[in-house]
Amino acid sequence: MNIAFLGLGAIGRPMAVHLSRPPFSLAVWNRTASRAADFAGETGARHATTPADAAHGSAIVVTCLPTSQDVEQLLDGADGLLAGMQEGALLLDCTSGDPATSRRLAARLAERGIGFLDAPVSGGVNGAIAGKLTVMIGGEAALLERARPLLDAFAARIVHCGQVGAGDAVKAVNNALLAVSMWATGEGLAALTSAGVDPGVALEVINASSGRSNASENLFPQRVLNGAFPRTFRLALLDKDVGIAAGVAREQRVPAPLLQLASELVRIAHHELGEDADHVEAVRLIEKWADVKVRGPASDA
Ligand code: NDP
Repeated sequence: MNIAFLGLGAIGRPMAVHLSRPPFSLAVWNRTASRAADFAGETGARHATTPADAAHGSAIVVTCLPTSQDVEQLLDGADGLLAGMQEGALLLDCTSGDPATSRRLAARLAERGIGFLDAPVSGGVNGAIAGKLTVMIGGEAALLERARPLLDAFAARIVHCGQVGAGDAVKAVNNALLAVSMWATGEGLAALTSAGVDPGVALEVINASSGRSNASENLFPQRVLNGAFPRTFRLALLDKDVGIAAGVAREQRVPAPLLQLASELVRIAHHELGEDADHVEAVRLIEKWADVKVRGPASDA
């Protein structure tokens, strides 16, 4: 099956690796061409010079870009996706996108007989490397079946969430919950550290109790207490996701003051810490406000 992958970023690249092997014949395109060239050199994939070139002859085109708007901007022009995609093809958008733009994309593609699925993923870079991502799908069930062999190559769980935009909405709410639990855990541990409690000891209790979360079980022990703060998922992208979740609640007229506040806090952290900061580095802002560092005794960071 000829397929194309556009967007070899932190998560896109390890996803694409799984698609560079038989039965797939893969073409890759990336805005910074050297990254696509390196990928092609390492995997044997074809390095496409434009989105149209990548899409040409591909039954399924996968995109994994920061935002839905970035995907939308790739459609038009002589080098754009629409110049290369044929009737009957499918655009599988693994971007954590926004529902309204996904619906607009689906409508534009439908005019040309091209299918669209929003297919954001969760599981992080490690899940992508292991081929064990969760994919949340919005769109027609028949299109999902067409994409399933490809999705199986990098996913352990594929969930059909509803019509176009439903995958985006679920992904955004999931990441808003990540932001809320991470922020609340950060505030709680900053307060405890200030009060003289070792945050590692506090986490031992919390992780055996009802306050535990992915943040307390994984993010704080593996990234904060040791001062490592590895860069795997940019804070800028979490800011976008929580903003989408807050927007979904507003559009539905669902009172969601906690999601709106989380969106504001993550936006402030993003602006304070910059474009390259990892999402967990938001804890650095909590630490600054509290004038304390949430570190274990072994850390000198
Ligand atoms: P990165 O910032 O690491 O990479 C972004 C990719 O998109 C790069 O290939 C970049 O190209 C390309 N790109 C950026 N802007 C444009 C543009 N305007 N036009 C064309 N290409 C562009 O992002 P991630 O890989 O981390 O994330 C991609 C998507 O996956 C996001 O929606 C994110 O929210 C989601 N996601 C990420 C996870 C993670 O753990 N990282 C986990 C789950 C979902 P270039 O090389 O030129 O910069």
